[in-house]
Amino acid sequence: MTKALALFSGGLDSLLACKVIQKQGVEVQALKFVSPFFDYALLHNEAQYQQSIRDKYGIDVDLIDISDDYLQMLANPPHGYGKNFNPCIDCKIMLISKAKSLLTHYNATFLITGEVVGQRPMSQRKDTLRVIERDSSTDNILLRPLCSQSQKPTDVENQGIIDRDKLPRFSGRNRTPQMELAKEFGITDIPTPAGGCVLTEQLRAARIRRLFSLDKSYITPKNITLLLTGRVFLLPHGAWLALGRDMAENETLENMVHSGDSTLHVSNDRPGPFGLLRYATHDDDYQLAATITAHYAKKILPPPDIEVRGKEKRLIPVKPISLAEIETHLFAR
Ligand code: SF4
Repeated sequence: MTKALALFSGGLDSLLACKVIQKQGVEVQALKFVSPFFDYALLHNEAQYQQSIRDKYGIDVDLIDISDDYLQMLANPPHGYGKNFNPCIDCKIMLISKAKSLLTHYNATFLITGEVVGQRPMSQRKDTLRVIERDSSTDNILLRPLCSQSQKPTDVENQGIIDRDKLPRFSGRNRTPQMELAKEFGITDIPTPAGGCVLTEQLRAARIRRLFSLDKSYITPKNITLLLTGRVFLLPHGAWLALGRDMAENETLENMVHSGDSTLHVSNDRPGPFGLLRYATHDDDYQLAATITAHYAKKILPPPDIEVRGKEKRLIPVKPISLAEIETHLFAR
């Protein structure tokens, strides 16, 4: 049986691309790429995720961690960034190139994506789709089943393995045709639209942009996941402070503590944010981190002492600080 590798974002379009190809008797293996900017947490629950996609949609999916290559590309994407720090065109080129390199491994002959011509301003214009194909060297083997009629026929279409006349003819931003097709496939659990990439979010993308302006050695998945959680500050002597804004973020940060980090706690277990302090070497940074942490323990006046736990454990008394001053230390604004 002919086999296709699908780039699977988990959104409706990529799901429908898989379904219409399966319907033509072709086996589909989906690949879901993950990086600290999108879907990274799935790596902790890979088997569960695979099972849920199989049960809900009848699709086999493998996760592929593309972090290292992605971080290199993000420093200098040849096609530039979108509105924020999102290198959509080079991201697509990278993911499709990576999928191409896996064709032999999966014993597959062609690639599919859920791209729809005209749906997104930057990466799904007709000319951009062509650039993506060219720069990923996937001429003739990259089929976009949701809009193939607007594209050059691929080998599998020329060979009659895929009948392009039976494929949808989607274009533009209107989602109604996709919803109708989903209904035809009996898909009732419609996945939320793709868009879980933090590089398109103004605030968090700005932090990543700032990170890339620092020394290269700071650019690691471990640091990126920290920068994407809670409130984050860059202190005058180089320390990074992340504070949870609620219990869930406090817990996430607690799970991110690595050797060399210090943690900050409101004294006597009174309510307040959990703080994670990284790269702290100077006493002034410890003092400022404690002051900022106390500020966000809002219900407590006067500000509570902050306990710092790291190489040693100590209590730091703090004075009030203005929000305006705190904001000058934000990692990015
Ligand atoms: S939004 Fe993010 S994941 Fe999607 S193409 Fe752009 S950079 Fe890649």
